[in-house]
Amino acid sequence: MADTRVAIVTGAARGIGAATAKRLAEDGFAVAAIDLDEKRCAETVSAIESSEGKALAVGCDVSDAEQVQAAVNRVAAELGGPTVLINNAGVIRDNMLYKMSEDDWDTVMNVHLRGSFLMSRAVQRYMVEAMWGRIVNLSSTSALGNRGQANYSTAKAGLQGLTKTLAIELGKFGITANAIAPGFIATDMTRATAERIGMDFGDFTKAAADSIPVARVGQPEDIANTVSFFVDERSGFVSGQVIYVAGGPKA
Ligand code: NAP
Repeated sequence: MADTRVAIVTGAARGIGAATAKRLAEDGFAVAAIDLDEKRCAETVSAIESSEGKALAVGCDVSDAEQVQAAVNRVAAELGGPTVLINNAGVIRDNMLYKMSEDDWDTVMNVHLRGSFLMSRAVQRYMVEAMWGRIVNLSSTSALGNRGQANYSTAKAGLQGLTKTLAIELGKFGITANAIAPGFIATDMTRATAERIGMDFGDFTKAAADSIPVARVGQPEDIANTVSFFVDERSGFVSGQVIYVAGGPKA
């Protein structure tokens, strides 16, 4: 690579986003770590910098069009035009349909779907200019349907549609778009689910592992590794795909 390429990872303060930001830095990218609160990306940025990598923390609500544009402008000014985008920021607002509020529905749609749309729209011009780009969207095994997640499963299935359409529209500019659908990954998100149903996280994790063919739950690095594959220079013929990273064939 002649010049250092710039990657944006949303939701990079913790969990899968933090692991992905660190992995992309190891792969040689300058990384913009975007999260709601810039200060909460400090750990991600300092981990990257202490390994001689380049990183920038940017505060931004991905569901807000003005904030997204300002964040992308800042990344372009301070690191260079971004040509890799990992749409990872996410929230859960689980509830059975009859108890799900409109706010629970809208929040989940706004962060996952509107956020990925706004970020992709703002970043694509740098990718088109470079005639090269990589977009990876974080879907979920919940896209196949999951009790208590009418909002989340809809958003995650929607992201698969967005991925395929971006792949079709942007392919001629050397840009690929792919989605990763993780199964159970040990992060604050799954910790929150355990809390909501009143289960100890260790027991919750063990119960999940018992039904996963590889007999363990996933770690954020499992997803970061898959992101790294999609983003690789040599993965340019892989586009519009959804890869389930769930330790087995079934959700
Ligand atoms: P996590 O630990 O909860 O981290 C999510 C991050 O996204 C947090 O840092 C959060 O910031 C940030 N975020 C939330 N709303 C945002 C917004 N509007 N703008 C910018 N940043 C925002 O989640 P995770 O488990 O790492 O999950 C990462 C992605 O993988 C999500 O899209 C999730 O749906 C997907 N996924 C996870 C699993 C799993 O088992 N963990 C499985 C399938 C898919 P705050 O800390 O400030 O809230």
